Amino acid sequence: MEQTLSIIKPDAVAKNVVGKILSRFEEAGLRIAVTKKIQLSQADAEAFYAVHSERPFFGDLVEFMISGPVIVTVLEGEDAMAKNRDLMGATNPKEAAAGTIRADFAESIDANAVHGSDSVENATDEINFFFAQREIC
Ligand code: ATP
Ligand code: MG
Repeated sequence: MEQTLSIIKPDAVAKNVVGKILSRFEEAGLRIAVTKKIQLSQADAEAFYAVHSERPFFGDLVEFMISGPVIVTVLEGEDAMAKNRDLMGATNPKEAAAGTIRADFAESIDANAVHGSDSVENATDEINFFFAQREIC
């Protein structure tokens, strides 16, 4: 079974739509292998988004990701990575297809409600960043 990492970002946690977003994963046939609420430190956010460190929006992205707690979840199922990306919708909520999480819950390209791993290889690294193997079951 494929696994992928989801983060419900501070904007969606603050809006109190955590349950609604987790339900979408379950309704699409994905299983929650583990989930937790965590306040990222600046070092956590910089390390997690290190791939974007040279991008002009990196500082704003880190600041946003530490602006409040997030919900980190390992989703499991057939084609979990691609399925989660489909449920999320486009990075910019203004371009996200109707019925996607970002179309329904996100305000802007900065505050865009959710993160999802963008490859199966990155998913493994991102899952290991947040969880010990024995927590995932
Ligand atoms: P995520 O990695 O959060 O799941 P994504 O894979 O859809 O989102 P990426 O290209 O990986 O998009 O960008 C990471 C995050 O950086 C985006 O979710 C968004 O919040 C922010 N971001 C990306 N592009 C821009 C931009 N042009 N301006 C501002 N913020 C941006
Ligand atoms: Mg990404």
